[in-house]
Amino acid sequence: MASSVPICDICMTDIITKPASVWCSECEEAICYGCERQHGRMGLTKNHTTLPIKDYQKLPSSVAAIKEKCIGHSLRFDFYCVIHNEPCCMSCVLEKHGTCQKVKPLSEVMEGVKSSAAFADLEDRTKDISALIVDLITDKQNKQANFGVQKTKIISEVQNVKAAINNHLIKLEKDLLDELDKVEKKQNENIENFIKKLSKMLKKVENICGDLEKTKQHASNFQAFLGIHEWNKRIEIEEKEWMSLQTDQITNTFDIHIEFAPILTKFEKDVKELGNLEVKSSSSKKTPLNKEKQGQIFVPIFYTVDNIKLTNIRSFKTPNGASRNMLITGIDMFDDGSIVLADQSSNKRLAIVNQEGEHIKTIQLEDKCIDVAVIDKDTIATTLVERKNIVIVDVHSSKVHRNIHTSDKCGGITYTGEQLVVSLHNKTIQLFDFSGNALSTLSTADFPGYCSSFNDQL
Ligand SMILES: [Zn+2]
Ligand SMILES: [Zn+2]
Ligand SMILES: [Zn+2]
Ligand SMILES: [Zn+2]
Repeated sequence: MASSVPICDICMTDIITKPASVWCSECEEAICYGCERQHGRMGLTKNHTTLPIKDYQKLPSSVAAIKEKCIGHSLRFDFYCVIHNEPCCMSCVLEKHGTCQKVKPLSEVMEGVKSSAAFADLEDRTKDISALIVDLITDKQNKQANFGVQKTKIISEVQNVKAAINNHLIKLEKDLLDELDKVEKKQNENIENFIKKLSKMLKKVENICGDLEKTKQHASNFQAFLGIHEWNKRIEIEEKEWMSLQTDQITNTFDIHIEFAPILTKFEKDVKELGNLEVKSSSSKKTPLNKEKQGQIFVPIFYTVDNIKLTNIRSFKTPNGASRNMLITGIDMFDDGSIVLADQSSNKRLAIVNQEGEHIKTIQLEDKCIDVAVIDKDTIATTLVERKNIVIVDVHSSKVHRNIHTSDKCGGITYTGEQLVVSLHNKTIQLFDFSGNALSTLSTADFPGYCSSFNDQL
């Protein structure tokens, strides 16, 4: 869409720039106020309808760019060729569309276009898909807000788990410290009791020691002699006591140690994460279009060989047969994209390859075949040239459903959706129904070789 006001194309020829006030789509010129008066009076242009320049500027650029005149012939488009799907001027019709059977007056094909069902249908479908897109955006935005809620929830769950682990650790710590207190107390008690026992022994031994000292100083030899026996008994008791202490555990050295639960020493190594974050997808309800494209469009579009563009989608090697000298002379495609090949060589076979070009099946035939036609996903027809036979075969069991005899050697075959069409060496094309009944025979100038159907035409 142009942003500034266009200048008058007529004045521009005199190198005068004046802002245009209207647009004449027939002249394809912007016209200023002054020139507009002349344009409205002159014989050739007085019937031209003009459009205020403001409105012209509102047109989508793709629509504004549509020329109303033939560039090649500088003539008005007055016709429309439905076969080529293009507007044409008188000269175009003569030069290019002479054989086209569907050239119509432009006024006829475009009459009532804005109020047509096709235009309304376009508007409806545009509004429909636009509403669906808006809904989907809103839905996705809501989902975005949900992520925030989910994140907050997970954060609080993580904190809960951490708190639970912490609380458990605190409890375990308290239990252990309580236990430690008890163990320490018990060990102290044991040692205190032992010291008491030793102190008693010490007292007895010191008494004996004191008695011996005093006897040595003050008693007679006779007294000392008789006393030895008595002291010997007393010291022996203490010695026995001492010896028995040697086997008592109480003389061992006691230390308090801790051995941690194995899981705790491995905690850091084994527990690498608190949890595993995962984005789960669940399929949501599919939203089909509310407005399906309505049957017939305003001007039907015909596809012709001219407007078919070829692109290589994939290539594959033809599958080897028993004989390496294969000769592929016929091909057809199933709806699912798998392909059947007719191998005319001594292999006498139909070979089926899947969408990826992998050989998935061979159907062995009784004789050499020329061409093959897919009838439906389970059935194919092939021409056995020498036998003058069309053979209808079940794809899965490889069994022959039906033999249809032809009046001469048969070559190319095609299935129109209703009829089998076969070209024969006797310069005819024969049409059969699926049951094998001959419907009609067309004569051709020469052996037609192959045949195919397109838009109800052979
Ligand atoms: Zn002007
Ligand atoms: Zn004009
Ligand atoms: Zn033309
Ligand atoms: Zn045409």
